[in-house]
Amino acid sequence: MSGNGDDKRWFEERLYDSTRYAFRADKVIYEEDTEFQHLALFENEKFGRVLMLDGVTQVTTADEFIYHEMMTHVPILAHGAAERVLVIGGGDCGIANQVLKHTSVKHLTQVEIDPSVIEFAKTHFSVFNASVFEDDRFHSVIADGMKFVAETDERFDVIIVDSTDPIGPGEVLFSQAFYDACAGILTGKGIMVTQNGVPFMQADELVTSISRFKKSFTDASAYLAAIPTYIGGHMAMGWASHDGEARFRGAGVLTERFAKAGFDTRYYTPRVHAGAFALPRFIEELIEKGLQQG
Ligand code: SAM
Repeated sequence: MSGNGDDKRWFEERLYDSTRYAFRADKVIYEEDTEFQHLALFENEKFGRVLMLDGVTQVTTADEFIYHEMMTHVPILAHGAAERVLVIGGGDCGIANQVLKHTSVKHLTQVEIDPSVIEFAKTHFSVFNASVFEDDRFHSVIADGMKFVAETDERFDVIIVDSTDPIGPGEVLFSQAFYDACAGILTGKGIMVTQNGVPFMQADELVTSISRFKKSFTDASAYLAAIPTYIGGHMAMGWASHDGEARFRGAGVLTERFAKAGFDTRYYTPRVHAGAFALPRFIEELIEKGLQQG
């Protein structure tokens, strides 16, 4: 917490050692040290309700639609026939909300380690997750995502890793063992996407993920979205697929699939989807570096 002399409390984004920025908390709504992490929720004039875990911004009601739409509609529409989806993390249930818009999805399992996040999100993020808990396709599992993927005998068409950053309980969700286990529980044309940080600020994280994806998947890359909450420029979503063609779906086929899906969005469009894989040169170089690593 820091301030500039005014009477408001400020919450600092503490993900990076050398760069910090702070949200003014116009109202602190909830704060708790859960079994796993420090959880804070507050109102901010520009970003609405802001959730922080261990001093790292997770989701805000003002721009959650960008990340949640791009982490769900891109893999599901690229796949084209996804019926069984697995979310690892995702405790605010914003990802689940978007996945369940696809009537083609018959079964969604969400594996979240910290029940406090779900319980608290039910109350404070109902603006984007209320329908999730009434949907009988939704199955919530409280467990470590690593343990679940290592032990389940279920199979999935799409895996969405909506994790915290590779610190604390989230660290294992960036490991080789985790990615290998995910590869093993995906169906033949399965796709995994991951929350993979801001390449300008977390270059090594993306390089390492790509180097690990390629060991168990046919195709490894990333796609981008502009998310104001996550400072430092482009937000990268890791892409790992057993289908070498899925990443290259053109706007034409995506337009047909999106029209058939029959729902509105605020960020995702088929052209944004196709364009999200067009990477700036400095990010292409990070992908290339990851693919070249042993
Ligand atoms: N959109 C956010 C972002 O980009 O950082 C992530 C949102 S969601 C709140 C992240 C969730 O991952 C948290 O609820 C956290 O409890 C959960 N999580 C962290 N480590 C986990 C693990 N090993 N297994 C399952 N869930 C985990």
